[in-house]
Amino acid sequence: MYQQLGISKEVIELVNKAEKDCKDVFAKIDAICEYNSAKVLKAFWDNNVSEVHFNSTTGYGYNDIGREVVEKVFAQVLGSEDALVRGQFISGTHALTVTLFALLRPRDVLLSITGKPYDTLDEVIGIQDNPSSLKAFGVKYEEIDLVDNNFDEQKILNRLKQGKVKVIEIQRSKGYSTRESISIDKIEDIIKKIRKVDKDVIIMIDNCYCEFVSLKEPIEVGSDIIVGSLIKNLGGGIAPNGAYVAGRCDLVELVAERLTVPGEGREVGPTLGINKSFLQGLFMAPSVVANALKTAVVASRTMELLGYDVEPKYNEDRVDIVQNIIFHNKEKLINYCQGIQMASPIDSNAIPEPADMPGYLDKVIMAAGCFTQGSSIELSCDGPLREPYIAYMQGGLTYEYGKIAVMKAVNRIINED
Ligand SMILES: *Cc1c(COP(=O)(O)O)cnc(C)c1O
Repeated sequence: MYQQLGISKEVIELVNKAEKDCKDVFAKIDAICEYNSAKVLKAFWDNNVSEVHFNSTTGYGYNDIGREVVEKVFAQVLGSEDALVRGQFISGTHALTVTLFALLRPRDVLLSITGKPYDTLDEVIGIQDNPSSLKAFGVKYEEIDLVDNNFDEQKILNRLKQGKVKVIEIQRSKGYSTRESISIDKIEDIIKKIRKVDKDVIIMIDNCYCEFVSLKEPIEVGSDIIVGSLIKNLGGGIAPNGAYVAGRCDLVELVAERLTVPGEGREVGPTLGINKSFLQGLFMAPSVVANALKTAVVASRTMELLGYDVEPKYNEDRVDIVQNIIFHNKEKLINYCQGIQMASPIDSNAIPEPADMPGYLDKVIMAAGCFTQGSSIELSCDGPLREPYIAYMQGGLTYEYGKIAVMKAVNRIINED
C-alpha cells in the first residue's frame, strides 16, 4: 500500500528503521497517555456527565447545564479551581488577549520571563504598534530572556524586588523561536522562587501545545492561571473551535467579565450545540496527544538519520507536541511542508506556498490539510521564511497517518534533490 501512495522503497525502509529505534520512547508516551486517560475519565465520573449535557442553547445562552459541566470537567482535569471553556474564544491568541486585558490595568507591568512571546501577541502587547494594544491602554511591558534554555533566575528575582509587577507570563512551548520548550519541573522550580520574593504577582502560563504531554499541568505546580486553544491538544481533534482559561476563581471571573459583559460574565454565552464536541474532544485528547507525540518522535529520528538537525531529538524528554527540523535551506523547508500537505486527508492536491499572514512578521509557509481550519492538533507543518529555516511540525490524530505523512515529506525532499 505504501508504494501505491507513491513512497519509494528506500524511504519506507528508512522510516521503518527509525520507528524501530523509537520503541522505548513510544512505551513512555503510552504510559503517560494511560495516566491522563484515567484522570479524564475520573473527571467525567465525578461530575456525572450525562447525555443531557449535550444540550444546546442559543441567544444569550442562560442556564446552560452542559456548558457548566464542561467547565467543571476541564477545571478538574487541569487541577484548577475554575475554568472558562468557550466557543466564543476565537483562538488561543484571543483567549490570551482577553486574559491579559482582564488582569492588567493602566500603569500595570506585564513581565514575560521566557523572552519574546508568540508572534501573534506582538500587536496585542504593543511590541508592534497597534492602537488597540495593551501598550495603547497604558500597560507597560518588560521581558527577560532565557539563558541557555533556563530562566534567568537572578534577573527575574531582582526585577521583582525592585517594584510591582502585576502579571508574569511564561510561555511553555517555543513558538516560532529556536529555544527549547520549558518543562513542568522548571516551571515548578521558578514559581517556588518567585513566591519567596513576591506572593501577589499573578503567574500566567501560555499552555498551548503542552497539555497531556506530561503527568502534571501548570496549575498543579503553583501557577495562577493557564490558557490554551481547543484546536490544539485539549480539543482532541474534535472541538471545532474555542479555547480555555483555567485557574483561580477570582481571576477566571475577571476573564469571564471581559470576554462577555461586566455584570454578566460567565452566565451568558450560547453553546450552539458545541458541548458534546468539547466533552468528546477532551475524552479523546490523551490518546490524540500520544499519537501526535509518536508522529513527532518518528519524524525526529527519521530526519536525524538523514543528517538533519532536529530539536528535540527522538529520545529527549518532550514538553510539547512540536517537532523542529532545522533545514538551513529555504527550498528544503518548502519541500518538506509541501510533502506533509500531499499526505493530508483534505486538500492533498493543494501546494502550499510561503505567504504573508496576519499576526506574523515574516512570510510563513503552512501545510495543513485539516478537517478543522487551522487546527494544529491535526498534523500540520509550518515555518517562517527566515534563517535557519526551521519546520515546526505538530499534531497527528493517529500515528499511522502521521507516519505516512513523514514518509511523503521525506520522499518529496529526496525527489526534489
Ligand atoms: C498556537 C499558539 C498560540 C496561539 O494560538 P492560536 O490558537 O493559533 O491563536 C499562542 N501561544 C503558543 C505557544 C502557541 O503555540
